[in-house]
Formats: sequence, structure tokens, C-alpha cells
Amino acid sequence: MIWEELLSVRPGIDPDFRSFLDSCITACKKTEWKPAVQTDIPVKSDKHDIIGMVDRIATDGTFSIIRAAGAMPFGTYSADRLRIASIALCLEEMTGKEVTGGHVEYIPDGVYRFHTVQPRDRRQVIATLHKIRAIHRGDRPHHPLNAPCNRCKYKERCESVGGRRLSDLL
Ligand code: SF4
Repeated sequence: MIWEELLSVRPGIDPDFRSFLDSCITACKKTEWKPAVQTDIPVKSDKHDIIGMVDRIATDGTFSIIRAAGAMPFGTYSADRLRIASIALCLEEMTGKEVTGGHVEYIPDGVYRFHTVQPRDRRQVIATLHKIRAIHRGDRPHHPLNAPCNRCKYKERCESVGGRRLSDLL
């Protein structure tokens, strides 16, 4: 049934994904999921000039984002923490209420984790937005410290930018 729905949404989907879907369904059956009262809800923040999408809102008002990746043994990936923090910023502006965090649903493993948004997550979102806007203005970003440049396919293009000086950071 779900596969038929998927075919309606993505008619050209690779048939090999059928076995992936089956393994996701098997994994998800082991977990008790909170039913959603709304799905695919657009969110935005005028203050931070960002838009996004919440995948599910549960009956208790908490929100979830759905990931097609496996879960870490504990916690959430840093990119998912930023997604949760960005959505929290949007929802706070839209509702006028504090949003403490949200769930990340890792479908291949059939688990969900609540991430409590930390001040450092909010700082990182704002810093990332500043960097993105600077890049859009034509600035080229500095090399981060400890970047894996030796095995990076963009090394040649990147070399002309130069490294970041400690005096920039301290
Ligand atoms: S070479 Fe690659 S890893 Fe190194 S700073 Fe540039 S983009 Fe990042």
C-alpha cells in the first residue's frame, strides 16, 4: 500500500527502494509513534529571513522532522540540531511562545529523539545565516580550523582564499 502511494508520488522511483522501504517499515513497527494532527507545515521567520517545513505536529503540540538517515547510538547529528533550532526560531516568532525543542525521526532505524534546543544551537544558526549572507554578497569564506582539506575535492578552488588567522578568532 505504501509502495503504491510512493509510486503515485514518484512514478520513476528505482524499484530497488522497495526493499529499503520494507526494512524501514519493519524497523518502525517496533516503535510507538505519536499520531500527527498536522503534516507538512510551512514555517517562517521574518526576523531571521528563513523559511522551512515541519514534517509532523503531534497531539501534544510537539513537532518532528523526518530523516531518511539512520540514528546515532545517542543524541542527534549536528545538522539535525540546527534544523530543530531553526524551526524553533520560526515557530516562536509565529506563535509568540517559547519552543524548547523538537523530535527527529530516524526512519531507517525506527527511532525518534527529542532535541532540546541549546543557546549554542541558536548562536550557530545565527552565525551560519550571517555566513550565508556574506557568501551571497560575494565574500569567500575563510578556511575553518582543522578542515579536511587534504582529501577535499574543492581544494584547488579553495586554495586561493587563504587560511584563517588566529587574530581573526581571538
Ligand atoms: S579545501 Fe575543502 S575542506 Fe578545505 S576549507 Fe576548502 S572546502 Fe573546506
